[in-house]
Amino acid sequence: MTDTAPSPPTSEPLAPYPAPGQVGAILLTEAQIQERVRELGDELARKYRDTTPLFIAVMKGSVIFAADLMRAFKAPVEFDVMVVSSYGDALETTGVVKIVKDLDTPAAGRHVVLVEDIVDTGLTMQYLLDHFSKQGAASVSVCSLLVREGSEAAGLNVEHIGFEIPHDFVIGYGLDAAQIYRNLPYIGVFTGDL
Ligand code: 5GP
Repeated sequence: MTDTAPSPPTSEPLAPYPAPGQVGAILLTEAQIQERVRELGDELARKYRDTTPLFIAVMKGSVIFAADLMRAFKAPVEFDVMVVSSYGDALETTGVVKIVKDLDTPAAGRHVVLVEDIVDTGLTMQYLLDHFSKQGAASVSVCSLLVREGSEAAGLNVEHIGFEIPHDFVIGYGLDAAQIYRNLPYIGVFTGDL
């Protein structure tokens, strides 16, 4: 992306963001997301009450969800991040999961909670479940903000789910289109071009 240089501060109105035509239906409002994240944090704190789990944020899409979920988890928790890529900058999965950055914390013997933005085909989740089982994690569960409708049919078992969504490509609350729009506080359907 080529960018112009930053400008001096201005009191002029800023251009609308997102630009018209980039976002269609808002599937989940900020308030709906915040309420569900509080419920998930409580559910997880009860489940892991006798242990200190290791939350692993699967970057970059889960950055905002993981930060909010941790604060909704009112008990001791450790945190690490992993950068994984299967989409590149495109709208379709490449089918190959790549670990771009691995953990700093050993997962062996830990109760791992994989914090995901969205489980779509389940490829990323399956890859990470295998990865952490091989590393000797005591248990691995998945907490995904979003899951595609019909994914149970594909044999996916995501224990903690925020919302099921239809087959549109969505952006916001951490999810991007070509790395932009992660900072929208809601989740909407991307209707722009890449
Ligand atoms: P899966 O491996 O389950 O097919 O895909 C999981 C990853 O694909 C997610 O972590 C996310 O990065 C990306 N992804 C899948 N669907 C969408 C979508 O609708 N919007 C965005 N921004 N990313 C998606």
